[in-house]
Amino acid sequence: MEVYAYGGAREVGRNCFLVHEKGKYIILDCGVKLGEQTEYPQIPDNMRQHIHDVVVTHAHLDHSGYLPHIFRDGLRPHVHGTKPTRDLITVLLADYARIGGGRKGSGDAFTQKDVDMSIRNFRLHEFNQEFHTGHGFRARLLNAGHILGSAMVMVEGDKRLLYTGDISVRGTKLLDGCERNIHCDALIMESTYGDEELPSVKESMKKLVHEIKETLKEGGHVLIPSFAVGRGQEILLLLEAYMKSGALPETKIYVEGMIGTGMKITRQNIIYANQEIQRRILMSEDDPFKSKYFRTSRRKDKHDVFEEPSIIVSTSGMLTGGPAIGYVEKMAHNPKNKIIFMGYQAEGTPGRKILEGEKEVEFHGEKIKLRMKVAEVRISGHSGKSELIQFAKGIKGLKKVVLIHGEEEGLNSLKESLERSYEVIIPSLGDKINI
Ligand SMILES: [Zn+2]
Ligand SMILES: [Zn+2]
Repeated sequence: MEVYAYGGAREVGRNCFLVHEKGKYIILDCGVKLGEQTEYPQIPDNMRQHIHDVVVTHAHLDHSGYLPHIFRDGLRPHVHGTKPTRDLITVLLADYARIGGGRKGSGDAFTQKDVDMSIRNFRLHEFNQEFHTGHGFRARLLNAGHILGSAMVMVEGDKRLLYTGDISVRGTKLLDGCERNIHCDALIMESTYGDEELPSVKESMKKLVHEIKETLKEGGHVLIPSFAVGRGQEILLLLEAYMKSGALPETKIYVEGMIGTGMKITRQNIIYANQEIQRRILMSEDDPFKSKYFRTSRRKDKHDVFEEPSIIVSTSGMLTGGPAIGYVEKMAHNPKNKIIFMGYQAEGTPGRKILEGEKEVEFHGEKIKLRMKVAEVRISGHSGKSELIQFAKGIKGLKKVVLIHGEEEGLNSLKESLERSYEVIIPSLGDKINI
């Protein structure tokens, strides 16, 4: 068995791996790397004929965004994934087509038609149910705990290979942690936080409540930039729970961008959430998804949002686009306001720059002075260093570990820790790895 790294090698973004064994081929994820310029997986022309089956682990664009490009190029693979993944990428890819993926006139434009085609070729699979790809691999999806419906992929040929996609070992407000009962020969593992420990949920929550309370008391507004899918829903459910329990004062929470749509899809696919939240919805009248605190702004100038202290949860999570930018522009001048980052901020993004202390940011060529407060509270959908190590060590029969989806420090630090027990490889873009 061999694996080709076409994206997500020594970087976070555009995950794409081709697994090959004796005439059988399967692609694991096909994402894009968003930034000033979108970067795509580097699949060589002579390998594109082998794109028959693509597994999409979850809806985030760094794992799914290249799909419509494949269909635009006339290829017609089967796309494998869970139902929430299909439902979520239906809206995320449509949005991506509108804002950037369809950059008119540029060589990489695709259209809604390519998105529709991607969705039509979707094959739905439940967790732990074996399926056969058109070209002979046996595969299974396992719960990854990262966002709703997110999966790890077990590929079985002569060797057993587990690909994690993005994983969260610990459970959250909404989701159970990833599957831990695993037996395989080789592991391809994400390394986003390979050199960092994540704070405990309790610590993070204490800090979140403190930061929000402080700003509301001063009469300011809180902006929480978030991914459309995943953290966005977790944050809303957390805020709702804290207001209900009295830990936070009752405040209007404005939901912006695709986060609301993500909420609806989550509610429709609630059997993929944890037992507790299912019970709350099914056994009582108390449906946190329909909370009275959630609002949408009725005005283009957002005047209503700023009438009294409020909380805004808006895309995009790293301030690379979306309505969050408009809010930063409106809020930046006032030191009573606060921006709270809760998710991963990739290198080079405005979010990362602000977190690292820059007092001036540029959006659409216009410089903005930042006087608002900046805070960080981690509630990550990923795993910290020791959680990743424990996860690998819990796998029976494991011999080889391939580290991906990380920055240099994270990859090296994990390698150092795992090297004593396993053969560890950090592939570069284009590398072929023997499993
Ligand atoms: Zn993800
Ligand atoms: Zn990812």
